[in-house]
Amino acid sequence: MPEFTNESVSAIESTLNDVDRALERLRAGTYRTCHVCGVPIDDRELVANPLLANCPAHPELA
Ligand SMILES: [Zn+2]
Repeated sequence: MPEFTNESVSAIESTLNDVDRALERLRAGTYRTCHVCGVPIDDRELVANPLLANCPAHPELA
């Protein structure tokens, strides 16, 4: 069985952390709002990327 490279492990951990944060936002009731400015995020964008935490004005600040 092939082993994961360190790079793969980092990428997997990063995604799982994002999932954790998304679930926390879901429980806290802030899932559908931008993490930065609090505006509602479009449903279609969340369907396309369920880990999205920011509105289009704040793309890289998750
Ligand atoms: Zn925003």
